Amino acid sequence: MSVGTAEELFVDELKDIYSAEKQAVKAYPRLTKAVQSEDLKQAMQEHLEQTKGQIERLDRIFEILEKRSSGKTCEGMKGLIEEAQTQLEEIEKGPVLDCAIIGALQRVEHYEIAAYGTVATLAEAMGQDEVKELLGETLEEEKETDERLTQVAQSVNSEALSEGGEEEEGENESSSNGRGSNSRGSSRSKTSSRSSSSRSGKKSSR
Ligand code: FE
Ligand code: FE
Repeated sequence: MSVGTAEELFVDELKDIYSAEKQAVKAYPRLTKAVQSEDLKQAMQEHLEQTKGQIERLDRIFEILEKRSSGKTCEGMKGLIEEAQTQLEEIEKGPVLDCAIIGALQRVEHYEIAAYGTVATLAEAMGQDEVKELLGETLEEEKETDERLTQVAQSVNSEALSEGGEEEEGENESSSNGRGSNSRGSSRSKTSSRSSSSRSGKKSSR
């Protein structure tokens, strides 16, 4: 479809969102299976159901506009999902992966918030009140989901940080001189064992 007018742009944007939501629904079960936190799992299951409802809203919108919903692939969502998939392959299951998945999901929500904001504003300008209403409902759900994920992140983040820092907790015993780079306590086990052994040969400080 070629876009010339604002009305055509509006439909084009809606098709893009439709594709984005379809991709999200497809990716969610795989991501949900990979997380450990029960809170996160539940938030994800609920948003998956919500997202199915959002697709129904879009179906209704295409009906109102008498347009077809197909014909576009949202490359932005595709990229976001690919990044999440890569993290899923690279990070072991546990709190650190949960942190990564939350980050990926919040990127998705922010993307959707921007997209729905754009079309909701356009719908309003076009006097498409019912369409604007439907888009506004979804926009609110995406914002709520983003906030909920921020809340879930608070517990998941501290779990992830305490998991990685365990073996370095006893930092009181080392005096000012022999200390390496872990002053912020953020190094994780994989890297910390390597850095401490490579530093043990350190000789003089003046
Ligand atoms: Fe959505
Ligand atoms: Fe969403």
